[in-house]
Amino acid sequence: MPFPLASLVRADLAELTTYVPHAGAYAVRLDANEAPPLLATAAREALERAIVPPSFCRYPDATATELREAIAERSGAHVDEIMVGCGSDEIIALLLTALDRPRERAPVATIVTTTPTFVMYRLSARARGIKALEVPLDASWDLAEGSMLRAIEIGRPNLVFIASPNNPTGTLMSLDRLSRVIEAAPEALVVVDEAYIDFAGRSEQAALRARYPNVALLGTLSKVGFASLRVGWVVGPRELVREIDKTRQPYNLCVPAQRGATFVLRHLGAEIARCAELVIAERERVATGLRALALDVPESHANFLWVGTPGPAGEVFEALAARGVLVRSFHARGGRLQNRLRVTIGLPEENDRLLHEIAACI
Ligand SMILES: *Cc1c(COP(=O)(O)O)cnc(C)c1O
Repeated sequence: MPFPLASLVRADLAELTTYVPHAGAYAVRLDANEAPPLLATAAREALERAIVPPSFCRYPDATATELREAIAERSGAHVDEIMVGCGSDEIIALLLTALDRPRERAPVATIVTTTPTFVMYRLSARARGIKALEVPLDASWDLAEGSMLRAIEIGRPNLVFIASPNNPTGTLMSLDRLSRVIEAAPEALVVVDEAYIDFAGRSEQAALRARYPNVALLGTLSKVGFASLRVGWVVGPRELVREIDKTRQPYNLCVPAQRGATFVLRHLGAEIARCAELVIAERERVATGLRALALDVPESHANFLWVGTPGPAGEVFEALAARGVLVRSFHARGGRLQNRLRVTIGLPEENDRLLHEIAACI
């Protein structure tokens, strides 16, 4: 008898597919919002020395205390208000694992998020059988307050996920709208994802956490030059951290990740700020160049640009790829995303190449 796998698999998985980054060799990769290699040689060498485990035989620190202390110093939170994960992706998964009790008379738990936004909120929810309500952003790619409030009222979500600055639009959500969404969901945890905050010029972290008990903030090292380490964190109320920590695997962060991230946070803060400034300056230069080609480019507060193309974005994407420049296209999502590309800011020469090639592709 053949092994009846289908009878064992969670039904929700039928609608999911494995996340596969675009393979292939491209001269210029501007598709994944990674930082360009701007780190100074001395800093890079110091980091290389710092990540080496003192012993290969021993498990890492299951409490990741040094790393959490380094995050606490940077964020002003208490170590008990911090949990670390293998990227913020793991934190998102664990929040959904821990906070999935269905509301009264509802068959499953629900989350509310925006669209377009970071896909992991929906994917991680669906993989756990949690319902995801996605509320379209308004015409300026900001929170559509009325629709958000209705979704919260109707959906009674356990969690609300809002990325600010948002991926893939690069827009910062208005603080007054964000505040009213938080106030409208006093029974839900509102997760504000600040993955791109180093490029934004302002962080809501302290203000929101001080004002609201139902807010948690996500942070990551992935977008500021250390995606290889896979280190992200949540800052939230300690009762929340105590509960979600029960769902974390004790050794979720390996020794090089813990040591590397601690070193980065303790000693490379100025280097991160310097690299982020270069990316911001390049972002403004590239945005100006693209607007000069009559492309619609909303103001970005992240390390990428949200580019409107005159024709179908899929065609521009293919033409750029054929010329060795890989970006991200959202045409497959249809609707108003049909003519949208997301372009990560790279090294100045990579950005020059993008500007040169895209002029020939539109
Ligand atoms: C890239 C990104 C992350 C980071 O995920 P990691 O797992 O930490 O690499 C989180 N949130 C948003 C909105 C992102 O775009």
